[in-house]
Amino acid sequence: MSGEIRVRFAPSPTGKLHIGGIRTALFNYLFARTKKGKFIIRIEDSDFERSKDEFVIDICESLKWVGLDWDEGPLKEDYNTKNEYFQSQRLDTYKSKADELLNSGKAYRCFCSHDRLKELKDIQRQRKDAVFGYDGFCRNLTPQEITEKLNNNEKFTIRIKRPDTPEISFCDLIRGEISFRSDTLDDFIIIRSDGRPVYNFTVVVDDYLMGITHVIRGEDHISNTPKQIILYKLFDWRIPEFGHLPLIFGDDGKRLSKRHGAVSILEYKKEGFLREAILNYLALLGWSYDSEREIFSKEELIELFEISKISKTAARFSIDKLLWFNCLYIHELSREARLSILIPFLKDAGIISELTDHVKEKLFAIIEIAGDRIKKLPDLNFYAKPFFFKPEEFNEKGVRKFLKAENIQVIKHIGKLFKEIDEIDFKREKIEEIIKIESETSGIKSGKIIQGLRVLLTGGMISAGLFETIEIMGRDEVVRRIEMFQ
Ligand code: GLU
Repeated sequence: MSGEIRVRFAPSPTGKLHIGGIRTALFNYLFARTKKGKFIIRIEDSDFERSKDEFVIDICESLKWVGLDWDEGPLKEDYNTKNEYFQSQRLDTYKSKADELLNSGKAYRCFCSHDRLKELKDIQRQRKDAVFGYDGFCRNLTPQEITEKLNNNEKFTIRIKRPDTPEISFCDLIRGEISFRSDTLDDFIIIRSDGRPVYNFTVVVDDYLMGITHVIRGEDHISNTPKQIILYKLFDWRIPEFGHLPLIFGDDGKRLSKRHGAVSILEYKKEGFLREAILNYLALLGWSYDSEREIFSKEELIELFEISKISKTAARFSIDKLLWFNCLYIHELSREARLSILIPFLKDAGIISELTDHVKEKLFAIIEIAGDRIKKLPDLNFYAKPFFFKPEEFNEKGVRKFLKAENIQVIKHIGKLFKEIDEIDFKREKIEEIIKIESETSGIKSGKIIQGLRVLLTGGMISAGLFETIEIMGRDEVVRRIEMFQ
């Protein structure tokens, strides 16, 4: 359909999909959906040594998990059945397009040896040339010389003839007018001597043949764009619009890496992040709606996304902010929905096995008192465990500080008082009252008693509110733990 917007995400499957990659995918996806266009995935696996099937799977599963559904690309039932959206399946196309340029005299075979090219570079370096590049030596070989070399089986690369325009410029959708002096470019190679096409060539051939109207990708590709524009011009093809997304840095202003808490997308899933949180946070890495609003569902993003609102300056990734979003989305779920996504993590950690009504009620109560201490799904495990298992060991520092003989004596007495309360009255207010009175009569600060009880009952120094914890743990269990403690 003419006039249709078509964008693509074109990952190289040489590693797992990370934050930067999925952010590029998301902005392409949103652009396509906002404009009722098509979102295409193209697997750039022409680097045979470094491309791996397992990374294709990782990339596709990551996109699927986050909800970036593609209209064209790898088969959704089997990501590794290589179809025409894999560059490895398009080698004949690249060859025939390179031949077109050769036949029309816009490209030529270069037989220069490695040694000659190295020598050339050395001379340019000595001369302190501003730019190094090929000198066009093979541009003017005669047809006879070429035939002779081919008959001698001499290896060759294919180079384009750089046009003589002084400048290559384009209007970037995000960065505005960008110009490159074309004398910084040379007759660059499009097909290597082993027959493999280079990235800049495959991208242009594919983007053209796939009808891509807008190329939206990371800023690290900006220096490739003039070469690609030259190729479009040589072919006399319509040039797509380009938009280069700002880089993503960590909190410290350095290029994003694992050090900043950034891991692969599926790793976030494993670690207990929700796709809604990832998606929302990704959208804000370089894009904003206004200076206030931060919370967006996928549907809202599709409605509100505008490429002109993408910033030119680098985005900053903060794991704390991502955790903040995750916490928010976890707590936005209904009680039932939240429990059902938490269950697998509890089961995996061996905290629960069967979900009886009793366990369910207890979990609802625990989740409520843990509140926004649950920032990632498995965080509940820590808070839930003491309710299902008595402590195997006690925090050493906690014991030393809060379970001294005099403190234990008071706690044991509190245990006796608890035992006398009717189960039905065993509520947080009552518990608090008893502890307060015991603190006053013993002269030991209530904070100390509370911390002592926390260590005794949970084994550690951190838990949800203690009165609530005691109530949910239940009178009999609390009394038992206090009585058994030596
Ligand atoms: N395959 C390239 C990459 O993974 C992307 C190429 C492009 O978007 O033009 O960086």
